[in-house]
Parts: sequence; structure tokens; C-alpha cells
Amino acid sequence: MPRIFKDVSMSQQFEDAFGSIYYITLGCAKNEVDTDRMRSLLLAAGYEVADEVSEADLAIVNTCSFLASATEESIEATLSLAEEVADGVRSVPIVMCGCVPSRYGADLPAELPEVAAFVRTDEEDGIVSVVDGLLGVHRGAPVFVPEVKRTVEGAVAYVKISDGCDRFCSFCAIPYIRGRYRSRPWSEIREEVRDLVDSGVRELVLIGQDTGIWGEDLPQEGPGPHNLAQLLVAVSETARPEHVWVRVLYLQPEGMTDELIAAIRDTPEVLPYIDIPVQHCCGRVLKAMNRSGSEEELDALFARLRREIPGMIIRTTYLVGFPGETEEEHERMLAFMDRTGFDYTSVFAFSPEDGTRAARMEGQLDEDEKLERTQAAMDLAESLGFAATAAHVGEQAEVIVDGVEETDDGPELIGHAWFQAPDCDGAVHLDVKEAAVGDILQVEFTDSFCYELVGHVIG
Ligand code: SF4
Repeated sequence: MPRIFKDVSMSQQFEDAFGSIYYITLGCAKNEVDTDRMRSLLLAAGYEVADEVSEADLAIVNTCSFLASATEESIEATLSLAEEVADGVRSVPIVMCGCVPSRYGADLPAELPEVAAFVRTDEEDGIVSVVDGLLGVHRGAPVFVPEVKRTVEGAVAYVKISDGCDRFCSFCAIPYIRGRYRSRPWSEIREEVRDLVDSGVRELVLIGQDTGIWGEDLPQEGPGPHNLAQLLVAVSETARPEHVWVRVLYLQPEGMTDELIAAIRDTPEVLPYIDIPVQHCCGRVLKAMNRSGSEEELDALFARLRREIPGMIIRTTYLVGFPGETEEEHERMLAFMDRTGFDYTSVFAFSPEDGTRAARMEGQLDEDEKLERTQAAMDLAESLGFAATAAHVGEQAEVIVDGVEETDDGPELIGHAWFQAPDCDGAVHLDVKEAAVGDILQVEFTDSFCYELVGHVIG
């Protein structure tokens, strides 16, 4: 099966590679994009990609620190890599990048002597000189990087349209880790979209911590898009005439303007799929979270979305057990999930994150209570999600082929339909053996299990 691989040919300027680098990425799609950017810079500077750490001269771990559990996972992954490296015969320096160094920078060198260098998110564009320094590469002149491109493998590419966040939700450390909100200029996004589409990508997923306010911090005059609605149209027009899907994730409820609803409804490439992490429905809890809105406003918003974009798929997030959340507020949130009929809901138990206001609030729930409420929310999310998935049985739709999965019955082709966001919703298991990654097949859904669908290829 052919693989779509963006040829980053800049390394051709070097006769021999300076070394090879092994990458581990933890956390969300935004981190995948950051790793891809570092990999591009390093490829351009003459460093190859190692498939195994045993073949590498240096390893990069791009970490997540969204929750305490994500920080622990990042540190565990780094330490187990260090153990693996220690068992080998060659010295392989480890560079820890991303959110953990951004959040705990000053404390880390003493805590993690196994790590050779720490690189914060805002320092990642300087990754080449960090790696050069560790591997003793001396260049006569600064690295000339004529064109840094994405190195996407597969049919789907995440496109970061902003970084940072200005909302300062009281439970969230992201604004302290990633900094204030910065929209990425349209000229950069357009170049990346062109490049990705030319390389055969079939779905562009626009991401950022708060995509709905894209453009607000950019000049409002001149040509080009000035808000998210216009950006979706501009991305779609840039991708044409190729057959490409455009999806946007991580919107806040206030970001759903008339113009945005119209853009999603009326632009053929833009999928009628919306991801609005509400976190809670009760006005009192939302206020304590430093978020706005009320149950009535959220009810009105989702009713309107369902009315104006029939068949729209809606994903959300419930942060369970926020300090002071009463049993009645938890029950109201469950009832809200039920009547809205979310297709997909991520459920997180509140965790008191260092440096956030919510960590210091009174009314912290005990762990057993949080666990019980989280389980109830997950059970409901699953029953709604499984039913929403089963409702697609009998429908026909396009499916993008993503790859092969090994099963007890041998290799099986896997893809996703427009109503399944890559990497987080379910997949479609196809009944053909021959297709290429990135092929778009016409499929009839014949069965479902959990969030998964079985697809009969009809064209
Ligand atoms: S919107 Fe709130 S939860 Fe999301 S990244 Fe910003 S501060 Fe965190």
C-alpha cells in the first residue's frame, strides 16, 4: 500500500546526514503538529528520522502537561526511554520538549538528570542548534532552510491556526504553558494548506486552543480572511479542485456566530461536525470556571445548530467534579447531555492543577465522589455515542482510507467517515483488501459495535 509522505528534500543540500533522531509525541494533535515542525527543521538541517531508538543518535520527547496525569505519563515515557537507552551500547542524548519544560522548566534539570536538554514550546524553532550542540555538529554558516514543509504521513493533516489561550478558565494551566493567544497569519496557513493538498492529504483538521476567535488579534483590513468563518471558506477555496474535507475542532460556545454557522452549512468542503467543549451546563459552575453562559443559552445554541444544520455531528467535553459541584448540578449536566444527544463526549475528572485558581478553591470533592460521577458521565456518554454510531447503519457515505490494522483474521483496512474525527471518534472497518491510504471510497455501513462501524465498499 503506498504511503503519503511529504518529501522534505531540503536535506539534499547535505551529502551525509549529521545523525538520526527518534521522536516520541505525547498529548494532543497540537503537539503532533509541533513535533512535525521540529522534524521538518531537523530534516532541513541534515538529520534523518530513526524508526527505533536503537538506531538513533538522539531522541526527542515532546511532552504534554494538560493534566497532572499527562505530566506523569510524559515523565514516565522519558524515564523508560532513558532506561532503554542506558541498556544500549551508544550514548543517545534525550531532549525533552513542549509543555512539561514550559510548565516546570526551572525545576527539571535537578529532577531529571537523564535528560540532556529541555526545550520550551516557545523555543522549539531553535531545536536545530540544541541538537547540533548535543551532537557536536559545527556548521561554518547558519543552517539555510529554504522551505520548511510538513512531513505528514497518512491521509489526514492537522493545521494549527493559533496557539495559546486568553480565556484563563480557572481549572486550566494551558494559558500559563502556551502563553497568550496568537493567531497564525493567513499567508502561512495558505502555504501549508497548498503544500499538504499537493502532497495528497485528504482531510485538513484546523486546530488551536480556541479556534473560534481566530483572526481577532490580526489586522482587520486588507484582503484575506479576518475571522474563522472566512478562514474556513478560504481554506476550502485553496484546497479546490482537490477533493478535500475541512474540519475545525475546539470551538467555544460564544464563537458560534451566524457567519460561522452559515460557512459550515454552505461550504461543501467544510464538514458539518462541531466540537464545542462546554465543560458544564450550569451557570454557577461555569462562572466559577471563569467561563460564560448558562444552561438556557447552551440549550438554545445546540437546538439552533441542529435546526440550521440538519444531521450535524456534535462533540463536547464534560469536566466532572469541579470544586463545589453539587450532586444536583452533576445530575443537571447528565440531563443536559441526554437531551442534547451529543454524538461524542469526552469526560474528564477535575484535577487540581498547580498554579490554577481552581486548585485552591474550597469545596474540593473527594476522589471517590469524583470517580463515581465520572463513571456515571462516561456510561451516559457511551450509551449516547454507541446509539449515535448505530444510527449510521444502513447509510451510505464516503470514507477516507487511513491504513491497515492487524486483526485475528489478518490485516484489515481501516478508514473514517465525515462524522468521525480522526484519532478521537471511531473508525470504519472496510471489507476490501486493496486500497491506498488517502483513497476515498463510497461505503454502505452494515453493522456497528461501540463507536466502530463495518463498511461494505460499493464504489
Ligand atoms: S479555553 Fe479554557 S480550557 Fe481551553 S485552553 Fe483556554 S483556558 Fe484552557
